[in-house]
Parts: sequence; C-alpha cells; structure tokens
Amino acid sequence: MSVIRQLPRIVVDQIAAGEVVERPASVVKELVENSLDAGATNIDVILEEGGIRRIEVRDDGCGIASDELHLALSSHATSKLSDAADLQAIASLGFRGEALASIASVSRLEITSWPRDAERAASIGVDFGTQSAVQDAAGARGTRIVVCDLFSELPARRKFLKRPSTEASHSIAWVERLALVHLGVGFSVQHDGKSVFHVNSSDDLEARCAAVYGKQLSANMIAVEMPSEHIQLSARVGPPESARRNARNVHMFLNGRWVRDPRLLRAVREGVKEFVPHGYYPTLFLALSMSPESIDVNVHPQKTEVRFRDERMVFGRIVNGLRQALSQANWSTRAAGDVGSYSPHTSVGSAVSELGGVASATYAQLGLANSDARPIAAIDDTVATQNFLSVRNTFLFREVEGGVEIIDQHALHERVNLEELRKEIRAGEVVMQPLLVPSLVELSRKELQSLVDKKDVFRKLGVEIAEFGDTTLAINAVPARLKRLKPEALVEDLLEILHQTRKPSPEQIQEEMLYSMSCRAAVMAGDYVNEESLRSLLKRGADLPQDRTCAHGRPVRVFLSYLDLEKAFYRR
Ligand code: ADP
Ligand code: MG
Repeated sequence: MSVIRQLPRIVVDQIAAGEVVERPASVVKELVENSLDAGATNIDVILEEGGIRRIEVRDDGCGIASDELHLALSSHATSKLSDAADLQAIASLGFRGEALASIASVSRLEITSWPRDAERAASIGVDFGTQSAVQDAAGARGTRIVVCDLFSELPARRKFLKRPSTEASHSIAWVERLALVHLGVGFSVQHDGKSVFHVNSSDDLEARCAAVYGKQLSANMIAVEMPSEHIQLSARVGPPESARRNARNVHMFLNGRWVRDPRLLRAVREGVKEFVPHGYYPTLFLALSMSPESIDVNVHPQKTEVRFRDERMVFGRIVNGLRQALSQANWSTRAAGDVGSYSPHTSVGSAVSELGGVASATYAQLGLANSDARPIAAIDDTVATQNFLSVRNTFLFREVEGGVEIIDQHALHERVNLEELRKEIRAGEVVMQPLLVPSLVELSRKELQSLVDKKDVFRKLGVEIAEFGDTTLAINAVPARLKRLKPEALVEDLLEILHQTRKPSPEQIQEEMLYSMSCRAAVMAGDYVNEESLRSLLKRGADLPQDRTCAHGRPVRVFLSYLDLEKAFYRR
C-alpha cells in the first residue's frame, strides 16, 4: 500500500531547483539578474574553480531589509509581484520568487545586505536548506551573496558538472550577455583570482561589444537602430565570415532579458539570409524593448521563451530592420580566416569563423592553381586598372590595399544580377526580352495550372508565360538583363518555390524567384569569361551598395593580407 504524503519543504525546493539551477552559470545568472532588479550600477562576480567551489556576487543595489532576509530565501516569496494582475505586465527580470530558495536548497548560501536606509548590514546563512538566524554583519552598501559547494551533497547532480574552465566560461557568457543589454551598469568577473571580463557603467554599446566580441569583430559589426513608440529595436550584426553553424553567437534580448525563442530566431535568420550562407547563423546582438503588456514572459521556467501579442508586427520589424541595414552594409573585404584570430575569451565572444575554411582552402590551393593561371592585362577602367588573374575560370585574384583579394566569379555575378534586377523591379521597369521562339516545357496539368495562376507575379519579374495546350507551358519572354537564363531551368525552380511553401505570398514568390533567376543567369564556376566581361562584372559589383555575399549568403570575396602571405612563407 502506498500512502500519499505532503513532501517536506526542502525536497520541494530541491525539485524546483532542478528547473532553475543546472550548473554554476545558472546561479550566476539568477544572482546577477537579482542585482539588476535591485537597481545596481555595479555588479562584481567572483568565481572559484569554475564556480563549483564558490560563487560570489556583489552589488550596490537597494539591498534587503534584515527582517526580510528569511523571506527572500523562502520559495514563492518575491518583492516583484503582488497579485495576479501584475503577471500581465512584468517589468523585472525575476518574478517567480524561486531562485534564492532553490539555490539555497542545493548549496551553502550566505546573504549579507545593507539596504540604503538601514544602520548596518545583516546576514543570514543557509546550509542545504537549513536556515540559520539573522545576524549583524560587516559589509558594504548593497548586497553580497556567496554560494559555496554547489550540489556537493547531491552527487547525482554534481556528476553532470564539467571541468571548472568549462563551467567558468558558461558563467562568464551569462555576464557578457547581460552586460550587452544593461547599459549604465558596470560588470566584472574574476575567476580564480584573474580578471576575465570587465565593463564600466559608463561604457556604451560599442565598448561592450568590443569587450564581448573582441575589438576587430565588433568594429566590423553593422549597427541597426530602429526607435519607435511601441517597439524599439537595436542590433549589431557581424560580417558574413563570422557566421557559424550553430546559434551560439546569436544573442536576442527582450526588455533586458536574454531570450532563446525559436520563432524569434527564425525572424532573425530570415532578415539576414542574403548575408549568411544556408545552414549558418550570424554573429548577432538584437535587443527589443516594448511595453510589458504586449508580451508574456511567463511561459517557460527559465523565462527564455516569450509570447508576443502582435507577433507579425514584431517579426516584420525584425526582418525588415535587418534587411534594410544589411543591404547598405559597407563591410570592408577581409579575410574569412581573420575572424578566428580575434581571440575572444569565452563562448559568447568566440566567433571563430567556420567560414574561415573557405579562405584556408583557397589558400592551400594557391600553389596548385598556377598551371591554370592566365594573366590579364590592365585596361583603362576606373575600377580595375591593375592586373588580375583568372584561375580555373572560377576565381579572380587581384592585388588590393593591404593584400590580395580573391573573388568567386559566380558569386559576384549572382549578387550583381540580384541587386540590378531588384532595382528594376522596384522601379517597375524590368526590360523584357521576347524570345524569338518561345521555350516550351512539358508539365503535368496540375503543375501547369499552378504556374499559370501566378502569371501576374511572374510578369512583374519580367517573365512572361502562357498556356500552350493542355500540358505545355510556353515561356515567351525573360528579363533582358539576364541573358544567360535558361527558361527550362527557371520553370523547374518556379515549381520548386511553389511547392516548398504552403500558400506563398506574391512577395515571397517574387523574392525566391529573384534568388533563383540571379543564380541561374550567373556565369558558373569553370565558365570561360573574356577579359572585357570580367572587368565589366567587377565594375558592376563595385557600383552596388554591397557585394560581400552572393544571394545565398556565401562570400563573394576573400582577402589574404600581406601578413597571411608572410606567415605562409615563414617570414613571420
Ligand atoms: P525573484 O527574483 O523571482 O523575486 P528570488 O528568489 O531571485 O526571486 O529573490 C527573492 C527576493 O529577494 C527578490 O524578490 C528580492 O526582493 C530579494 N533579492 C534577491 N536578491 C537581491 C539583491 N541582490 N538585492 C536586493 N534584493 C534582492
Ligand atoms: Mg530572481
């Protein structure tokens, strides 16, 4: 026979701790967020052995009154909410009143606090859930919380902890994230006696990005600022070569809270998709602020997922804001491999470029490619008066300031097509080239119908199609600009586009078609292109607002600095 019992308080807290406290970094996050909620302007974090041995967080915030110290440690006790109505508009980072109780149930915790209007500081200790009495203490204004021996009496939890250096990097990453978005607050982190992160309260976003991402990378980040009455968006986007295969360098914040919302992430990827290759994520900082009533943060125990009242509006702003800013991005050409040498110290900053491989591969092949090399004489063009070299009918090498630039002819042509055609479409002046003999493509009835239904959308893009019998489609005209476009390949892509998205909007079809036409009409790697055309292509590229990536986000250009070359020859 089993008997139903009420669990003892300490067990309840330890179960709750499972949700909130996973590792030292979760403690650091909760304590620093409490300091922020307390209005601190300086927060110091001191770690020993990755925080497993000891975590100390000191702040100069409002403090906790001595007669409330025991309350701060009880579960479901909070100063941030008083009734259910408050849940509708949460302006603080904390609100569940669970963190301190949870942490105290799985560690030895001590709070020392000196609130502004109190005569002196007081402290309270908790040993794996057992509270001691409140005592007078020596201390500074504000609050100091020390957490020792996390999980030491819970071997099952403890064994999931990693090496101290790994645990430390997770903690530092949390402080870095919070430092990026809480301007006006100074932060420092020490690990085993060494300073590992520091920003002053007066440091602006640029200085904070430099501290988190490294000077070089942050100097190359594009700023996106969209102030408005209802929703403010502030973002920094790293250059294409700082993209990586996981979302670790994507940091999104909503009203000062770090969030990891899959739908928000999708909006971000949509906004940067022309600048980041398929399957990669950008290095990106994005902070949104809006009134607390328009969001619900109470949907996830760690509060990292959110719901928006008006999701479409929010996502639209993100997508458009990023697109707009990036389409003007004036990123200087730099080595894909360069980013790896930014030497950031933690996981947030470690923008070690996985695209760097592109540069190194090209680099390694330099010697091999010589036999295919074909020197090209200079002509009197404003863009390229210097010599360049076409290698394997794929890569163009040329000397630029500070080193050598290598251009992928296909990627460049694709970007040029995309930008030029897009400009014509926006102006409503796509020049159509009627085909002397219409191209005929055999399709199923259903396919034919689905294309003919979208006839008007295609026409806007300079493609004229018509039914030509039951199962035949005629392509009568294509954009004059895209001479190399093979109509049959285009039809294949159109079907694919219509097939991929359920009920795509005309705008979606138009965008996808633009990408596919730009690509299909571009010279391929390995295609011979005469010198004059290559020069004209370079010139057209130079005239664009940006030509760093192709329509699919792959790089157009890679740069090898003199330093890279010197290193390769062991001159450095
Ligand atoms: P929550 O943050 O959800 O309210 P916590 O368990 O993290 O719950 O904290 C409980 C309460 O303790 C807070 O509501 C706050 O009143 C107080 N508190 C915790 N840390 C601090 C701090 N650093 N400074 C001032 N008050 C604090
Ligand atoms: Mg809290």
